[in-house]
Amino acid sequence: RCGSVAVIGRPNVGKSTLTNALVGAKVSIVSNRPQTTRHRLLGIATFPEGQLVMVDTPGLHKVQKRAMNRVMNRAARGALEGVDVGLLVIEAGRWDEEDGLACKVLEDAGIPVVLVVNKIDRIKEKGELLPFIAQISEGRNFAAVHPISAQKHKGLEALVKDVMALL
Ligand code: GDP
Ligand code: MG
Repeated sequence: RCGSVAVIGRPNVGKSTLTNALVGAKVSIVSNRPQTTRHRLLGIATFPEGQLVMVDTPGLHKVQKRAMNRVMNRAARGALEGVDVGLLVIEAGRWDEEDGLACKVLEDAGIPVVLVVNKIDRIKEKGELLPFIAQISEGRNFAAVHPISAQKHKGLEALVKDVMALL
């Protein structure tokens, strides 16, 4: 199997960390400052089951006052052209307007969307995760939902398996 995957989400959720973890090489710049990734970056992730062309995108911003933000939003939308699957990356326990915007961009693209709940290593009460996921998934049509830690490489195998199944 082979296909392309766009990694979408607001700044700082861990898109580049996830892309790097899957590609297994530093293709993207990871930083705790938002907006480090200015352009979309491509990498190829190779697994026994097949290959994924990863498109890492700049974060989507609600505030479009600055020209840079506009350019980045356009790049994020452009990155979805011809892509097979979208990964909506969010932070465990947090959902705000910018996450909603990222979700909307993916829904508009008409491709299967996998919800990736990142940074689960930060959640002390694991029991909080399920209600959170249920709340986000309510009324939305995610092809799959995966709690992961991109940094600690947790949950990546199951995520890849589901993404491959959507190609
Ligand atoms: P992006 O803006 O969405 O591309 O986010 P980055 O990949 O640049 O990551 C933003 C920050 O979150 C960095 O400081 C990362 O080290 C951190 N981060 C990413 N994934 C995880 C994770 O699974 N757990 C924790 N605790 N931090 C993470
Ligand atoms: Mg990034």
